[in-house]
Amino acid sequence: MLFYYDTVVYPQIYQFQSDHIDGLLFLNFLEDLRMGVPLRQQLTVGSYLIRQKLRGVKKYPLVLMLEPLFRCNLACAGCGKIDYSDEILDKRLSFEECMQAVDECNAPMVSIPGGEPLIHKEMPQIIAGIVARRKYVYLCTNALLLKKRIKDYTPSPYLTFSIHLDGMQEKHDASVCQEGVFERAVEAIKLALEKGFRVTVNCTLFQGEKPREVAEFLDYAMALGVEGVTIAPGFSYERAPQQDVFIKGKDVKNLFRGIFKIGKSRKWKLNHSSLYLDFLAGNQNYECTPWGNPTRNIFGWQKPCYLLADEGNASSFQELLDTTPWEKYGTVNNPKCASCMAHCGYEATAVEDMLKHPLKALLTSIRGPKTEGEMVPELKPRYINEKPLPTFSGIPIRVEMIDKNASA
Ligand code: SF4
Ligand code: SF4
Repeated sequence: MLFYYDTVVYPQIYQFQSDHIDGLLFLNFLEDLRMGVPLRQQLTVGSYLIRQKLRGVKKYPLVLMLEPLFRCNLACAGCGKIDYSDEILDKRLSFEECMQAVDECNAPMVSIPGGEPLIHKEMPQIIAGIVARRKYVYLCTNALLLKKRIKDYTPSPYLTFSIHLDGMQEKHDASVCQEGVFERAVEAIKLALEKGFRVTVNCTLFQGEKPREVAEFLDYAMALGVEGVTIAPGFSYERAPQQDVFIKGKDVKNLFRGIFKIGKSRKWKLNHSSLYLDFLAGNQNYECTPWGNPTRNIFGWQKPCYLLADEGNASSFQELLDTTPWEKYGTVNNPKCASCMAHCGYEATAVEDMLKHPLKALLTSIRGPKTEGEMVPELKPRYINEKPLPTFSGIPIRVEMIDKNASA
């Protein structure tokens, strides 16, 4: 699901809270570390990152995107996954295939988007298998089936329901093209919280968003009592039924600046690293690191990331790492990536940057993203320097004047 695909949940290395500008800056920062994503998860992910660094591993996965099916019970306008034939939509990754992917990749976190994962009959078993391996798993769902299926799951610090909400009632129902979905999702959030599950909200932003409306929604989500919100601009899937719903370029950065400006007087918990948020606000220039979020779906290991279909698949995680022409992807390298700011590509970059520049990350976490002044200049796409393909305009054509008076 676009929203699921576009809302990979990352650890809160730092959790952005917008009251950082008061006199208790550092205390607030420490408080952030205690709240939201449990300290245990942060330590697991932190120690994993340090191990990769000590071993000198250049390309390591942070979150495995496990897509065991594409079938969904909704048909959203911005969805990049459900436009397949019934034959493909009926395919499933089995429990064994899912466990093999988790073991092969060995990322500390697993995100299960879809389609709608709760449709998969083996999902409770898959979740139990991941939890038994002590991986942090985010089950991304539109929540329509959660009330019915919640009894099949057991609360655990390793399991989080990541529930899809793209805004308040009118906005969300329009986004998923069905009335009443917002109400059912909110009901499911309350039920899951009541039963002691970890719950987050994943939100994708589309055309027509206003900072004030997004702020109102974030206030609402916090009041529901969820652990945090993952928020990102929708990726313009080529397969999406509607192409005019995506926000692009500077509009994304201006929107996020507007949201973060309002956020300075709020206490939102956004499940992102501080530098990724700063990137969204136009203050960092990053190139993507798609291997940080490898995707295993019914076709195999998808190259290069879960957003781009049709670029081929590998039969193992190692083959994915070894055979993907990574240098061909990213906003400056490939027109298909031109408007991408998705966290599946850039959170891992932001985390790398944080490891290299911890002081910058700490200061950004304390101050929040910059919302005024110049944005960093955008990197010039390399592909526009490529030698253009020959066109007819380059071929000399002999032009002869026709003498209308000449006899035939
Ligand atoms: S149709 Fe389903 S999979 Fe696609 S975006 Fe909507 S809820 Fe997600
Ligand atoms: S920039 Fe391209 S390769 Fe990188 S995450 Fe986005 S779509 Fe994938």
